[in-house]
Amino acid sequence: MPRLTMTDEEVFARDGFRCVYCRWDGRSFDGWTFLVVDHFEPKSARTKADPDRPENLVTACVICNQMKAHFRFTSVEEARAKIGEWRSQMRMFWEQRVKPLIPATWARVAGEALAALAGA
Ligand SMILES: [Zn+2]
Repeated sequence: MPRLTMTDEEVFARDGFRCVYCRWDGRSFDGWTFLVVDHFEPKSARTKADPDRPENLVTACVICNQMKAHFRFTSVEEARAKIGEWRSQMRMFWEQRVKPLIPATWARVAGEALAALAGA
C-alpha cells in the first residue's frame, strides 16, 4: 500500500531543501530553520482532495508561506511570479521607509550601550 503522507523532511528532501517560490537555501542549519511545508492548494480551499497528499505539499520559506497564505494559484510558476512581485514591493518599502531608520537607531543603541558601560 503506498504511503499517503510525507514528513516535512521528506518534502524538503524531494524539493532539494529549497523554497519552491524564492529558492531560499535551507541546506544549512540556519537556512533549514526558515523552511516550512506549504499546502499548495490551501487547506482552507476545502476541495475534495486530501490536502496532505504528497503532490500538494511543497517546501517554502516562512516569508513566502506567509505571503502566499490562503491565495490559490493554478501552478507553482504562477505563485512564484506573484510572490516575487509582492517581495519586490516589500523590498521597495524597506528601501524607502525602513532602511533610512537603521543607521540612526543603531547609533542611538550603540550610544546607550557605551553610556551604560561608562557608568558601570
Ligand atoms: Zn521563499
